[in-house]
Amino acid sequence: MERDALITLLGELVSIDSVNPSLSPTHRGEWELGDFLVDRLRSLGFDTKRQEVEEGRFNVIGRSGRGKTLLIVAHMDTVGVDSMTIPPFKPSVIGDRLYGRGSADTKGGMAAALMAIETVLLEDDLRGELVFAATVDEEYEAKGAEALMREIDAEGALVMEPVGLRPVIAHKGFAWQEFQVFGRAAHGSDPAKGIDAIMRTGRLLEKLKALDRSLMRRSHPLLGSPSLHASQIEGGEGWSVYPSICGLRVERRTLPAETREMVDAEFNQIVDELQEEGIVSRTEMRFFREGTEVDEGEEIVRSLMRAMVAEGMDCSLAGMGAWPEAGILNRSGIPSVVFGPSGCRGHEADEYVDIDSVRRCARVLRLAIRDFLH
Ligand SMILES: [Zn+2]
Repeated sequence: MERDALITLLGELVSIDSVNPSLSPTHRGEWELGDFLVDRLRSLGFDTKRQEVEEGRFNVIGRSGRGKTLLIVAHMDTVGVDSMTIPPFKPSVIGDRLYGRGSADTKGGMAAALMAIETVLLEDDLRGELVFAATVDEEYEAKGAEALMREIDAEGALVMEPVGLRPVIAHKGFAWQEFQVFGRAAHGSDPAKGIDAIMRTGRLLEKLKALDRSLMRRSHPLLGSPSLHASQIEGGEGWSVYPSICGLRVERRTLPAETREMVDAEFNQIVDELQEEGIVSRTEMRFFREGTEVDEGEEIVRSLMRAMVAEGMDCSLAGMGAWPEAGILNRSGIPSVVFGPSGCRGHEADEYVDIDSVRRCARVLRLAIRDFLH
């Protein structure tokens, strides 16, 4: 793979602002990058489509060949740029790094995939169908991936994320849980009447801490232990008022075997225990994404591992704590592996990607595509 061509392509991708408009409403969204990709895919002979996800936001889907389908997914959106200490959309190359918003997450992987696809298509006719999908909204609600599943079915998928050139087959899930602890409002001088909801929330926090400790006894070979943390707390009206209510938001990170019902039951158990102590509270799950895991015997996993071995790379399987779009694909019955270059983790003030890792990623993808669609 030509280093210069790769840097040019990656630079073009980074220079197009595709900040997720749900995260940063002052930005225009993903459409400009979408238009760029439509042109690029068309020039490669792909059958190309804009799939509207919501007004002004579309996935780009390119299809080539027919038969057994391999899907490659890269999200177009990036996180915001407010905290950035480098120019977000003026990519700069320093040593082996290319800096800019999205360079790692996930335009590096996108560039690698495009380069790999280009090479494969030049080499010979595909025996099977290659689908490249660029999605919107991964960094917020993953509406793009959800919509994509209404349009595409595949025998296997590669999901591009900056995972340091490791085949990631397991992902944690997460739950957002809301608690309310109740007290009784009264003037601060009236302890006989007042019941302090914030003080009572202290008991809830103790119990959550105990639950978190007990979660450490559960473990997954690639993901480690589940966990929880208190995310936000809200309550109180003023110095001299007993607060009648305190709200607490908790995030729980889950293992693939932990279901929504299990997580919900554990939190409700705490509410019951508080009740026995005379503390009234309630809890509700606001959002849940299940963790997922692909069997290491799946063909797409084997294809990727063989490609890595052929490139002389360590192909030991890995897991990731964050939740990628692969979860949605797996749930829809498409075995998916997350793969991509290395750099900083993305989302950071001086995001960069290691250029050499993008080149290696492209080489591995080329071999994996050929292996899967043999
Ligand atoms: Zn990402």
